[in-house]
Amino acid sequence: MTGSEERIRILEQQNRELLAENLRLKTSGRSENDSRDIREAAVEQVRQSNIRYQTIFENSLLGNKIISSDLKILQVNNTLVSMLGCKTKDELIGHHILEFSHPDYKADWQKLQEKLWRKNLPSFSLETCMVDKKGNDFWVSVTSILFTDDGGTLGFTIVENINERKLSQHNLLLRERWFRRMTDIMPQQVWSADASGNIRFVNNQSCAYFGCDEDELLINGWQDIIHPNDAGGCMTAWKHAIKTGSPFTYEFRLRNAGGYYHWFLSRAVPVIDDNQNTIWLGTNTDIDLQKAKETQKDEFLSIASHELKTPLTSLKLYNQLAAKNGSPDKKQEFIERSFSHIQRLERLISDLLDVSKINAGKMNYEIQPFEFNDMVTELTAIVQSTTTKHHIKVEINEPATVTGDKHRIEQVLNNYLANAIKYSPNANEVIICSKVVANNIVVSVQDHGIGISKDDLTKLFDRYYRADNAAMKFEGLGLGLYISAEVLKRHNGSLWIESEPGKGSIFYFILPLNGESLIQENGTDGHSYYYSNFLNINYNPEKYRLEADWVGYQNLESVKKGCMIMLDLLRKNNCSRVLNDNTKVMGNWSEAADWGAEYWFPAMVEAGLTRFAWIYSPSKFSQLAANKTLENVPNELQTRFFDNREEAEHWLNTSTLLN
Ligand code: ADP
Repeated sequence: MTGSEERIRILEQQNRELLAENLRLKTSGRSENDSRDIREAAVEQVRQSNIRYQTIFENSLLGNKIISSDLKILQVNNTLVSMLGCKTKDELIGHHILEFSHPDYKADWQKLQEKLWRKNLPSFSLETCMVDKKGNDFWVSVTSILFTDDGGTLGFTIVENINERKLSQHNLLLRERWFRRMTDIMPQQVWSADASGNIRFVNNQSCAYFGCDEDELLINGWQDIIHPNDAGGCMTAWKHAIKTGSPFTYEFRLRNAGGYYHWFLSRAVPVIDDNQNTIWLGTNTDIDLQKAKETQKDEFLSIASHELKTPLTSLKLYNQLAAKNGSPDKKQEFIERSFSHIQRLERLISDLLDVSKINAGKMNYEIQPFEFNDMVTELTAIVQSTTTKHHIKVEINEPATVTGDKHRIEQVLNNYLANAIKYSPNANEVIICSKVVANNIVVSVQDHGIGISKDDLTKLFDRYYRADNAAMKFEGLGLGLYISAEVLKRHNGSLWIESEPGKGSIFYFILPLNGESLIQENGTDGHSYYYSNFLNINYNPEKYRLEADWVGYQNLESVKKGCMIMLDLLRKNNCSRVLNDNTKVMGNWSEAADWGAEYWFPAMVEAGLTRFAWIYSPSKFSQLAANKTLENVPNELQTRFFDNREEAEHWLNTSTLLN
């Protein structure tokens, strides 16, 4: 007989005796026969009750056990025996109840049991993890309660295997987490709404855009952040979609955390289960750029038609005059007058064709050596013949043979000269200067015209861009500088501007004479220094920082190369600060500004960069490019501009982030 059976036997015996005693008391005074009958009936009642109890205890689909106050198992049923991977009850009886508990969950269970036995709890239920005989863990729900009988207070525990439910809950949770992650890496705002249209979920992109947390958005919805002009239409369309269950599509402006509106395309589809719409799944896609481009295109089309129509109208006029006027001299005069308009038309059309060639990547270059100064002299003579007001002063220092596409480089210079004349209506001089600097030709065209504001300076090389002060007063399509930048880039050159509103501008470009890269590398140990004609980098072990000295003219290629070397040395020396000295920079690198902000600075921060001191170049244009780069660097990075090296060094030295 097992210990528990023995215990039950004793309990039964005690019960029988108790009942018998009660009956004796109740039946005293009755006949002996009557009393015996009653006693036997009572004993039978107890026996039946015990059988019922045993049957329920044993045959339950839930694991049952009875435990003593020292948490030892007194009795178990077979369900629990097999649940725990045992063969006989003896493998459990007499053992501590927590022996089969998962180590990570023991403490919680123990605590609840203690509370129960101290009578601080009437009962408890807990979901916990157990480990069976073979070492497999599984989830159970445990319910414990105390009861008292003659043998004192005992614990009764029901154990239910909830592993499957728990696993499917866990899988559901995992899926939800993946779903959330997936929506968070999407560039769009992703959301869901219930069948009545109340927002129930938004992804991180939405929270980041609106600058608030998910709960706020769920409570408030988008109504208040839709542009007032779009809100009415949007709500009507949304209500219609909810009512009819048809997909929702709408374009509206949403206000971001900074208070600015962006255009979004919102789309949502209903999810239909059992013929009923249960939920809406939606996205908001930022289409602000497309919208801006559409507007720009429309504006461009109207400007282009106007620009093309003006010379055409003049041509038509001269043609009519020539047809009406019989005198050969007059006819000749009208034909000559119409010539400049034909040239203008030709220029506009060829600019438009060039832009489509650039876009399609089909701009061809005929590269061969040519005498640069001859090209300058010939071109200047032609441009000079088109103006009586301006004198073009040429300053050339030495002969230079350039390898490149003569026609295209001439086009760049022609654009510089034509602009210098066009945008200086009240001046009478334009100065063109070309000089050879360390195997490069550097060309500048200076005027004393309207100048360009700081804000416009770095945008002029964008397609169709025209500064405000020029757009209305001067003819043009805003394509010349865009084409020039492309041509120079293809020749490994670059361009930049120095300008002051009201005082005039100097447009520069630089080209390597042989058409090849400007970069000449002079040495590196691959770890602590790198020397070249455009950048010298040293690791300063006493100050734990990289010191980068940029030299001379820069272009996208040199900036990208230099930056990647800096990143490599930062990683190798495990340092966190950079002294970035641009004092000797001559040209600009505006093209590299976006690349620097989007790719390079985040990579530097990931590599451990925490402080970046930037000493300005004397070139205003270069300063603007530097400002543009630092506008969007990661927040955790500390950056500052300096006019001199001492202050920059001081700032870096006083950093509290020394490593
Ligand atoms: P366009 O002259 O046909 O508009 P460009 O691409 O040649 O096109 O020039 C773009 C813009 O740059 C001009 O619209 C003007 O605002 C500005 N710009 C160019 N050259 C000068 C200059 N010398 N002085 C002032 N502004 C200039």
